[in-house]
Amino acid sequence: MIETDIIIIGAGPCGLFTVFEAGLLKLRCHLIDALPQAGGQLTEIYPKKPIYDIPGFPEVLAGDLVTNLIKQAEPFKPGFTLGERAESFEKTEDGRFIVTTSRGTKHKAPVVAIAGGLGSFEPRKPPIANLSDFEDKGIEYIVRDPNFYKGKKVVISGGGDSALDWSIFLANGVANDVTLIHRSKSFRGHPDSVQKVMDMAASGKIKLMTDAEVIGVNGSERLDSIHVQSESAGNFDIQTDHWLPLFGLSPKLGPLADWGMEIDKNSIVVNTFDYSTNIPGIYAIGDINTYPGKLKLILCGFHEATLMVQSAFKRIYPDKNYVLKYTTVNGVTGF
Ligand SMILES: Cc1cc2nc3c(=O)[nH]c(=O)nc-3n(C[C@H](O)[C@H](O)[C@H](O)COP(=O)(O)OP(=O)(O)OC[C@H]3O[C@@H](n4cnc5c(N)ncnc54)[C@H](O)[C@@H]3O)c2cc1C
Repeated sequence: MIETDIIIIGAGPCGLFTVFEAGLLKLRCHLIDALPQAGGQLTEIYPKKPIYDIPGFPEVLAGDLVTNLIKQAEPFKPGFTLGERAESFEKTEDGRFIVTTSRGTKHKAPVVAIAGGLGSFEPRKPPIANLSDFEDKGIEYIVRDPNFYKGKKVVISGGGDSALDWSIFLANGVANDVTLIHRSKSFRGHPDSVQKVMDMAASGKIKLMTDAEVIGVNGSERLDSIHVQSESAGNFDIQTDHWLPLFGLSPKLGPLADWGMEIDKNSIVVNTFDYSTNIPGIYAIGDINTYPGKLKLILCGFHEATLMVQSAFKRIYPDKNYVLKYTTVNGVTGF
């Protein structure tokens, strides 16, 4: 059981900034994210795009903003449970919450802050009937740790950046054998990455199959082979240790929708006094919440996080009086 003061669901920019604001009040935080890395939409969707409306930064790359938010949170030693989706919660007799993830990890705290953005990113899965038989038994939709594929035979499907970048990475001395299968001849990914894949295919480092797709998977205990349909070569099987269908991730509110919070158009309704939900002790900040006049912007989420932790502090320490002090006066003293 991981115990903390605030369980933050979602390690996007708003979740990360919550760690800093909570830390100033000497509250500890633990973040849970379904993705294998922190940063939310900024890391997953647009790490190389410049953002122009973060106060004090005329221009900052989304990826750099995340790096800075992580650095800013570091003195407060946040805990992370990554690559696991927050599934359910229960209330304990002493009024605390236990949040359990998709992998069964349990977290306990008096306050839960949901900073879940557009929801948890779920992989787009190909329509193959027995796919689930081999999930985590040879079929993976997210590369959590590239070393897992060391010396292995890997087939990757997809035409976007994720499929291209992981093909390049794994074929550069990690996996033993990398095949990239894409159903078209044109790729959606960055032109530089497409060129790199073409060069590696020409030099034999990557086996590239275009106008082809995987239409079946076979095995007994684990994935053993995939069945491919190709315009030029007909139907055939490929023996493989792993198949990574990297067709992108789509956000879904997912299990949070069933937690009993008031929901309006896929967002959690909050009170703008402190961004509390209708469940006392559970707050929602950032893109996932809604209220009259809501703007889905990073700076609005930062403001929400700042007010929310004040309320969390009063909930955790009802008898303590908190006096606001500027960081310029008090500095930033970590744990
Ligand atoms: C292309 C693009 C450009 C943008 N440009 C700008 C801009 O210029 N300026 C600006 O202010 N905003 C911009 N935005 C919007 C901005 O990215 C969002 O406002 C911001 O990401 C919201 O942050 P967040 O922390 O609330 O959520 P997110 O960044 O969405 O992070 C939420 C995290 O919660 C996780 N999560 C959700 N549910 C669960 C669960 N049940 N269990 C575990 N984890 C969960 C998700 O995996 C995700 O990592 C842009 C968005 C896009 C897509």
